[in-house]
Amino acid sequence: MTASRVLVLNSGSSSLKYQLLDMADGSRLAVGLVERIGEETSRLVHSPTGSGTRERRGAIADHQAALKAVASELAADGTGLDSPELAAIGHRVVHGGTRFTEPTVIDEEVLAEIRALVPLAPLHNPANITGIEEARALRPDLPQVAVFDTAFHSTIPEHAAHYAIDAATAEAYDIRRYGFHGTSHAYVSRAAAALLGKAPAEVNVIVLHLGNGASASAVRGGICVDTSMGLTPLEGLVMGTRSGDLDPAVVFHLSRVAGLGIDEVDTLLNKRSGLLGLCGDNDMREILRRAGEGDARAKLAFDVYVHRLKKYIGGYTAVLGRVDAVVFTAGVGENAAAVREAAVDGLSGLGLVLDGAANAARSSEPRLVCAEDSRVAIAVVPTDEELEIAAQAYDLVTR
Ligand code: ADP
Repeated sequence: MTASRVLVLNSGSSSLKYQLLDMADGSRLAVGLVERIGEETSRLVHSPTGSGTRERRGAIADHQAALKAVASELAADGTGLDSPELAAIGHRVVHGGTRFTEPTVIDEEVLAEIRALVPLAPLHNPANITGIEEARALRPDLPQVAVFDTAFHSTIPEHAAHYAIDAATAEAYDIRRYGFHGTSHAYVSRAAAALLGKAPAEVNVIVLHLGNGASASAVRGGICVDTSMGLTPLEGLVMGTRSGDLDPAVVFHLSRVAGLGIDEVDTLLNKRSGLLGLCGDNDMREILRRAGEGDARAKLAFDVYVHRLKKYIGGYTAVLGRVDAVVFTAGVGENAAAVREAAVDGLSGLGLVLDGAANAARSSEPRLVCAEDSRVAIAVVPTDEELEIAAQAYDLVTR
């Protein structure tokens, strides 16, 4: 029997998301989440495929305890971490810097290098590292693979990666565009090519990953050539709680005139801006509901969100020269027909013409939502970051 299962771990500061996949057929054996780690009210929700969801409430002190709790749930299904069928553990790691452009088997040296990248991703890499350390402690003999959110964007050309700031300063502090959500952009751009019946190398696509975090990418022939997130995930599109693009002088103004400290500005722009900042809600469903009832702030938030999206669609059309498809993905992109409709409204000059009925129809399948005479395809492709992480990890350890 060849080991074909991969456990995918996505470790956040107070959460641990996981999926167990079987790469023999890409099927999912279990999906789960531990949340509020370190609090009294921790919760583990475990959903093995084909049987009922189990929930456990009560304090889970740290990531070590969280992973042990996950391991015992998996063991109860007969798919424990000691199973000979487990081929690898795949870890989502947010920042790979310029060092990591491929999935990488983790050893002490790699772990040290991921640790050295913490200053670039202080909110994310420490939690990812904790997840790796705990998983290695539980199964030291098993290959553990880091899959980096930045990796797919490592191909963007220098002119798109550089900020126009003092070159020596940029170099000294590793300041450049890295981009994030790369696993999703990789998966979705490939799946979009398949939907068009073409090889990835044959198509140019604009991917709009619109979740709570949101990013756009321009992918030419399967290779990423630009992306909207930058040094950190703060740049680019309007997000649930992040501002996306803004004049950097807003930061000076908040400091000098409003008297905010740098950490307060960080929190303001990352956690209290975006849709939440504009209208008090970060869930697009709620915003659409409120806007539908005539709420002016919700309508403005929607309009700002869509205006930014349009600018990226136009910008990346110029970057790519020829666009074969604009592809919507993630929570908002997959579900909010109104956002898709507004984002391409008036863009027939760029070759984008929506089919209203196809766009309004609900489905969880990859699908086209454009009119027959749309020169550029408009598609909805559900993302699957866990499957992509598992596939990359499995591919690496079975090579
Ligand atoms: P994350 O970035 O947390 O992975 P997701 O990709 O799951 O996010 O997207 C979450 C967001 O998707 C929610 O905040 C919500 O705004 C949006 N969303 C989910 N379902 C719908 C829906 N039916 N209509 C509009 N927006 C939705």
